Amino acid sequence: MSATNLRTIHRYSAKTLGLQRYYADCGDGRLRPRKPAPDLLWALLAAQLIRETSFHATEVMVHSAPRFNLGIGCQFCDDTLAYFTERMDPQPTRSALADVLHHAKRNKAFQEDAFIGLAIDGTTVGRCEQSSCSLCRPYRNQKKEIVGYHHHLAMISVVGTHLSLPFDVEPYGPKDSEYAAGQRLLRRAMQGLGPRFADYLVVDAAYATSTFLHTARELAIAVVARLKDNLPELSGEVERYFHGKRPHRVTKRNGHRVELWDSSDFGPWETLDWKWVRVLRYREIAADGTVIAQAQWFTNLPASKVGTLTLFKMARSRWEIENQGFNDCKSRQGFEHICHHEPHSLVICWLLTLLALVIGRLFRIRYLHRGNHPIRSAIELVRLLRLSLGQPRFLDST
Ligand SMILES: [Zn+2]
Repeated sequence: MSATNLRTIHRYSAKTLGLQRYYADCGDGRLRPRKPAPDLLWALLAAQLIRETSFHATEVMVHSAPRFNLGIGCQFCDDTLAYFTERMDPQPTRSALADVLHHAKRNKAFQEDAFIGLAIDGTTVGRCEQSSCSLCRPYRNQKKEIVGYHHHLAMISVVGTHLSLPFDVEPYGPKDSEYAAGQRLLRRAMQGLGPRFADYLVVDAAYATSTFLHTARELAIAVVARLKDNLPELSGEVERYFHGKRPHRVTKRNGHRVELWDSSDFGPWETLDWKWVRVLRYREIAADGTVIAQAQWFTNLPASKVGTLTLFKMARSRWEIENQGFNDCKSRQGFEHICHHEPHSLVICWLLTLLALVIGRLFRIRYLHRGNHPIRSAIELVRLLRLSLGQPRFLDST
């Protein structure tokens, strides 16, 4: 195996993941560019791969000796990156992310699991004191006074495959909503991936509305949605139906007893155009009898296609967008940092963060994991890449 450094990852992503064309034409919208777009793009991705997440840090990186080990042929400042990202079309990056997922599927990156899931959820990023762009949304204290501004977005990720790959975001400004952004995101994602890429979509209760569920059905994807009190009619019916009944399945999870109730005997509520509704209820109990967690989901996946345990796994895969999506992006990749406070630049930075995350995960978990050694952790790869920048230039034979 060749040395692990950023040049290796560039070559891997260009050839194995099919990003060569994207690297050559990433949607640069500058009229008279003085610095090559491929250099600027790779600098931003390389900075994310080593967790240097500000434009200034990227500027310092390309003005230092390791620039040669990055594979970048010129120097530039943070203003150049601001100007570049402000004018970059986000669509080529979104298409590149979808293409990478297709390559990954063709290369059997998801073969450990029978079903591929998608998860959509919303989050808050980028706080600031003053409203400085059209995406800034005010947040208020208990007296309803505006105390600052932040940015909201919906994210979509591949889940349920032992390989969480967040691949698109849709921002929503002050006159917009997570709910509307989620529907736009789902339509765009399904258009990019095609109807046969994923088997199900898992969402929180906020998306459990007739309109969203009909949109999903129109796009030919089954839904697993959390059932909470925002659907009182169905919740009440489920409570009456399962009350006093013995669980249909009992299994173990982390040493805890898990009880599962599963039935497709429920009717749709008035505005939902489904023939039936299947509901899964679970209760997790510790060894001392304490109930640790319980929740309910509903779906239009038939029991003949997806068994109770598989449906339980699908429902729990929603947590991946919280843990491997939002948490990793925010705590490790600087997702909350505003590099340049301009709406287009913000979206480009969020998308490039996802692209770097996807490239890094596929490289670490699928490409490097050949042979008998264990999968390297994310921080091990980051350290390897940082160390490789300090190597003498002549040692980098890749
Ligand atoms: Zn803003």
